[in-house]
Amino acid sequence: MKSNDELKPMLIDGEWVRDDSHAFESVNPANGAVNYRVSAAGDTQIAAAVQSARSAAASKAWRTMLPHVRARVLAKIADGIDANAAELAQLQMIENGKVWKECLAQVASAASTWRYYAAVCETLGAEVTPSRGDYLSMTAYEPYGVVAAITPWNSPLTMEAQKVAPALAAGNAVVLKPSEITPSAALCVGRIALEAGLPRGVLNVVPGTGALAGKALVAHPGVGMVSFTGGTASGRAIAGVAAQRLIPVGLELGGKSPHIVFADANLDAAVAGVVDGIFEGSGQSCVAGSRLFVQRRVLGAVVEKLAQRARALRVDLPDAEGAQMGPVAGFAHRARIESLVDAARAEGGEIVCGGARPDDARLDAGSFYLPTIVTGLSNRARTVQEEIFGPVLCVLPFDDEDDLIAQANDTVFGLASGIWSADYQRAWRVARALEAGTVWINTYKQLSIATPFGGFKESGIGREKGVSGVRLYQQSKGIYWSMNPANVPA
Ligand code: NAD
Repeated sequence: MKSNDELKPMLIDGEWVRDDSHAFESVNPANGAVNYRVSAAGDTQIAAAVQSARSAAASKAWRTMLPHVRARVLAKIADGIDANAAELAQLQMIENGKVWKECLAQVASAASTWRYYAAVCETLGAEVTPSRGDYLSMTAYEPYGVVAAITPWNSPLTMEAQKVAPALAAGNAVVLKPSEITPSAALCVGRIALEAGLPRGVLNVVPGTGALAGKALVAHPGVGMVSFTGGTASGRAIAGVAAQRLIPVGLELGGKSPHIVFADANLDAAVAGVVDGIFEGSGQSCVAGSRLFVQRRVLGAVVEKLAQRARALRVDLPDAEGAQMGPVAGFAHRARIESLVDAARAEGGEIVCGGARPDDARLDAGSFYLPTIVTGLSNRARTVQEEIFGPVLCVLPFDDEDDLIAQANDTVFGLASGIWSADYQRAWRVARALEAGTVWINTYKQLSIATPFGGFKESGIGREKGVSGVRLYQQSKGIYWSMNPANVPA
């Protein structure tokens, strides 16, 4: 059993480095206990990690590794993730409080992402383009060198796999800075990668705060590209630094996704989708369907069904049998959720259910919050516009399609959306009109690693996942090669 004065190391240049200078405590949100302390990076450690990644990216061992050999390493990492599923799920559960079943599902999803990019690595080639003369013209793809990957705490395993696997498939070396709330899954994957034969320095894992480690990493002149997932404010700050440095960024940011129920929908199926779409993971999902628009004539019936289902959700310790919602990821985070629900009350919102901590002594030491449904707010209310990133659903009525589209798009975000309707022509029209990077029709939160993912508007720049997910981490190079010795200027 781990004692809580254990100090977790960072992974720099293939070595496990313990350093107390910026160390922080990892706290279990289910009970407030200290899990362990974690070594964290400041400027010096970031510089060492970037230097290691630069050498690794330039090394023959990595730069000239044949794609099928690189693919084998990535596939071995996938196998290692599967083989260490229980440890990885446990690490995520004690750090962000997600329920055991969801943690295990995210481990499986991370492994399949690594396996997918192993396949892409082996099959994705350069292109011969139509030439306008007696020469061969080609588009080849080169890595940026060092990619800085910066990730959030809500789904570290999947978010990190989505960045690191394609960045490595593309031939880069990576410095991964996981969230200070969830550093351990990344460290464990770092160990698995070394065991799988990834050359030293190709993946460095440096926990630390955004203010210190994250900023130092983005500003480091050795970094050639930044891939960030997190809040919109942090993304904007990172994009500002990258703009000064003239390096590319991929940004996966926040959301306030509209979930839409037309009166002709199968209401029971829609309600099940809406409840899962907001309350799974205690609402801490970038694609959470947090603004629900219901056609006015079924509003009462839908709210009643929603409340029944939300009240029946089992809020419990994350490892309890049958738990459906664990705590939110921290005490400060819960305080912010509570202040936003207070703001909803102050703006005239009616709390249909939840709006409080659970009345259960077993959960008192953790940062739990009940599934909450709010009605009676306008689309301009603060709670309806701001990302809460917690188990809070705001329900609003709409009258017709035009009214719906105007309200649904009246947000700075554009990450995801959902439509429930039996009318396929209407579903198609609305899907095309919504300003969102993902639209679900008669389903919600179905995701595939093969489908590009990202946000419109302030929800992001660029697309992760899919075959093109590798191209995010490469720059194209045009090569013109004369096929005729007579092709010489006179
Ligand atoms: P956050 O922005 O606070 O932090 C994300 C990461 O960025 C952390 O590792 C943090 O240390 C680092 N960071 C913060 N400021 C930085 C800076 N100035 N420079 C460099 N690094 C910095 O976000 P969070 O609270 O960890 O995660 C929740 C947010 O992430 C929500 O807004 C959610 O919607 C978003 N998210 C988006 C997606 C997506 O795919 N679009 C997926 C998951 C989460």
